[in-house]
Amino acid sequence: MALTLAELQRRIQETYGAKDSRRGVEGTFMWFMEEVGELSAALRSGRPHDQAAEFADVLAWLATLANVAGVNLDDAMRAKYGNGCPGCGKSPCVCDHAEKP
Ligand SMILES: [Zn+2]
Repeated sequence: MALTLAELQRRIQETYGAKDSRRGVEGTFMWFMEEVGELSAALRSGRPHDQAAEFADVLAWLATLANVAGVNLDDAMRAKYGNGCPGCGKSPCVCDHAEKP
Protein backbone atom coordinates (compact mmCIF):
# COMPACT_ATOMS: atom_id res chain seq x y z
CA MET A 1 0.00 0.00 0.00
CA ALA A 2 1.56 3.24 -1.12
CA LEU A 3 0.56 6.20 1.00
CA THR A 4 1.21 9.74 -0.17
CA LEU A 5 1.83 12.53 2.29
CA ALA A 6 -1.60 13.99 1.53
CA GLU A 7 -3.26 10.60 2.07
CA LEU A 8 -1.41 10.13 5.34
CA GLN A 9 -2.55 13.50 6.63
CA ARG A 10 -6.13 12.81 5.53
CA ARG A 11 -6.12 9.36 7.16
CA ILE A 12 -4.88 10.81 10.43
CA GLN A 13 -7.58 13.50 10.23
CA GLU A 14 -10.30 10.90 9.60
CA THR A 15 -9.03 8.65 12.40
CA TYR A 16 -8.18 11.16 15.12
CA GLY A 17 -9.39 14.57 13.95
CA ALA A 18 -12.20 14.97 16.49
CA LYS A 19 -9.99 14.05 19.46
CA ASP A 20 -7.10 16.07 18.10
CA SER A 21 -9.08 19.28 17.72
CA ARG A 22 -10.24 19.05 21.36
CA ARG A 23 -6.64 18.59 22.57
CA GLY A 24 -5.34 21.66 20.75
CA VAL A 25 -1.89 22.62 19.48
CA GLU A 26 -0.14 22.75 22.87
CA GLY A 27 -1.33 19.33 24.05
CA THR A 28 -0.66 17.77 20.67
CA PHE A 29 2.83 19.23 20.59
CA MET A 30 3.57 17.61 23.96
CA TRP A 31 2.51 14.20 22.62
CA PHE A 32 4.57 14.76 19.47
CA MET A 33 7.67 15.50 21.53
CA GLU A 34 7.06 12.43 23.68
CA GLU A 35 7.04 10.34 20.50
CA VAL A 36 10.30 11.99 19.36
CA GLY A 37 11.83 10.90 22.67
CA GLU A 38 10.59 7.36 22.09
CA LEU A 39 12.18 7.41 18.62
CA SER A 40 15.47 8.44 20.21
CA ALA A 41 15.27 5.52 22.63
CA ALA A 42 14.42 3.12 19.80
CA LEU A 43 17.35 4.33 17.71
CA ARG A 44 19.66 3.76 20.68
CA SER A 45 18.19 0.28 21.22
CA GLY A 46 19.26 -0.87 17.77
CA ARG A 47 16.05 -2.90 17.35
CA PRO A 48 14.83 -2.34 13.77
CA HIS A 49 11.20 -3.27 14.50
CA ASP A 50 11.00 -0.77 17.36
CA GLN A 51 12.68 1.90 15.25
CA ALA A 52 10.23 1.48 12.36
CA ALA A 53 7.25 1.69 14.73
CA GLU A 54 8.57 4.84 16.36
CA PHE A 55 9.25 6.50 12.98
CA ALA A 56 5.60 5.76 12.13
CA ASP A 57 4.42 7.26 15.41
CA VAL A 58 6.49 10.43 14.97
CA LEU A 59 5.19 10.89 11.43
CA ALA A 60 1.59 10.26 12.55
CA TRP A 61 1.92 12.80 15.37
CA LEU A 62 3.52 15.32 13.01
CA ALA A 63 0.50 14.90 10.71
CA THR A 64 -1.77 15.33 13.72
CA LEU A 65 0.01 18.50 14.73
CA ALA A 66 -0.27 19.85 11.19
CA ASN A 67 -4.00 19.05 11.16
CA VAL A 68 -4.61 20.85 14.43
CA ALA A 69 -2.50 23.84 13.28
CA GLY A 70 -4.26 23.93 9.90
CA VAL A 71 -1.12 23.25 7.85
CA ASN A 72 -1.23 21.16 4.65
CA LEU A 73 1.99 19.12 4.80
CA ASP A 74 2.01 18.33 1.09
CA ASP A 75 1.71 22.01 0.17
CA ALA A 76 4.32 22.96 2.78
CA MET A 77 6.83 20.40 1.53
CA ARG A 78 6.30 21.33 -2.11
CA ALA A 79 6.74 25.02 -1.31
CA LYS A 80 9.89 24.56 0.72
CA TYR A 81 11.64 21.46 -0.72
CA GLY A 82 9.90 20.96 -4.07
CA ASN A 83 12.83 22.41 -6.00
CA GLY A 84 15.64 20.93 -3.90
CA CYS A 85 17.51 22.50 -1.02
CA PRO A 86 15.86 25.74 0.16
CA GLY A 87 19.32 27.16 0.87
CA CYS A 88 21.16 26.59 -2.40
CA GLY A 89 18.31 25.50 -4.66
CA LYS A 90 20.21 22.35 -5.71
CA SER A 91 19.59 18.62 -5.37
CA PRO A 92 21.84 17.24 -4.06
CA CYS A 93 22.53 20.16 -1.74
CA VAL A 94 25.81 22.01 -2.24
CA CYS A 95 25.58 24.23 0.85
CA ASP A 96 28.72 24.46 2.96
CA HIS A 97 28.95 21.65 5.55
CA ALA A 98 29.06 24.22 8.36
CA GLU A 99 25.63 25.57 7.33
CA LYS A 100 22.30 24.06 8.28
CA PRO A 101 20.79 23.02 4.96
ZN1 LIG B 1 21.84 23.44 0.04
